[in-house]
Amino acid sequence: MAKNTSKVKKVAVLTSGGDASGMNACVRACVRYALDQGYEVYGVKHGYKGMVNDEIFKMEYSSVSNCVHAGGTILRSSRCPEFKEPEVMNAAVENLLKRGIENLIVIGGDGSFRGVEAIHEGTKLNVIGIPGTIDNDMGYTDSTIGFDTACNTVVDAILKLRDTITSHDRIMILEVMGRECGNIALNSAVAGGAEYVIVPEVDTDVDEVAASIKRGFDKGKSSSIIVLAEGKTELTDELTQKISDATGRRVNHMALKWMQRGGIPTVEDRVLAAKMACRAVELVECGQSGRVIGIKGGEIFDTTVLEALACKKGFDQKLYELAQIISK
Ligand code: ADP
Repeated sequence: MAKNTSKVKKVAVLTSGGDASGMNACVRACVRYALDQGYEVYGVKHGYKGMVNDEIFKMEYSSVSNCVHAGGTILRSSRCPEFKEPEVMNAAVENLLKRGIENLIVIGGDGSFRGVEAIHEGTKLNVIGIPGTIDNDMGYTDSTIGFDTACNTVVDAILKLRDTITSHDRIMILEVMGRECGNIALNSAVAGGAEYVIVPEVDTDVDEVAASIKRGFDKGKSSSIIVLAEGKTELTDELTQKISDATGRRVNHMALKWMQRGGIPTVEDRVLAAKMACRAVELVECGQSGRVIGIKGGEIFDTTVLEALACKKGFDQKLYELAQIISK
């Protein structure tokens, strides 16, 4: 519900937590759509830290020129553990309120959404969240801004690595991001034609992985790629040893790490970013607070941040089983 009304409508936008490609497309759409709706628009640099440190500046149409295609975030991002302390958060919110800014749009992951909930519950600021994280680990929404780009980056890496390991008849364990969520690993493995995918959501029998890779070579494969999700990296040494023993071939390991974060956002991420930004500004216009934007079945929706945070991420078991079959 509305907490404040003000003569000059003002809204601020920030990006928080891990950067994700498509954040700029989202900032751009927030800024320009809000300007179109008659708002004065402000940017906050460095996420919640910049709110604390008063890094707040006015944004115009041209402030977001030529950034729709850029990875990272022009607003910068950061982690700000001290924002969890109510007195720090209150002082940060006051930096907006003293300028007459009564609305804030936060683009970030689940940590940033905890900040959204804290602001909503504890202050007079109206706050709306947009999911920006490559991990796609938020249960209430089918996708998040940055996920599609990250998957495309992993697929590109799989294809490049395939050239080399095929030339040398080798095996590659490719470690990808996603924290406790296997979505990047699963989608990239299917799209990139990897031989095996290991995710946190499914128990792993390392002996069976090794046997499966061996069967592939016995059938005439000349290389094998195993996509290993971040949440299962403790298996790396055992996998390397057992696959090497089973096949007699060299096993290399590589972690893509931050290579997955940046880069030119895909069309899908940019369009998602624009649609989510539009809904966020509409909620601001309706005086809403404590709500976050999602997408389900291709439709943009909004829900309370509490509901969103309580929702456990589902796992596409069917796609996982399909991956096992078509990668043999
Ligand atoms: P992400 O948003 O990508 O998940 P983090 O988990 O690092 O990234 O969270 C980003 C920021 O959100 C944190 O550095 C902190 O400033 C803020 N935040 C996280 N949890 C809380 C909380 N419980 N209360 C207030 N702010 C929080």
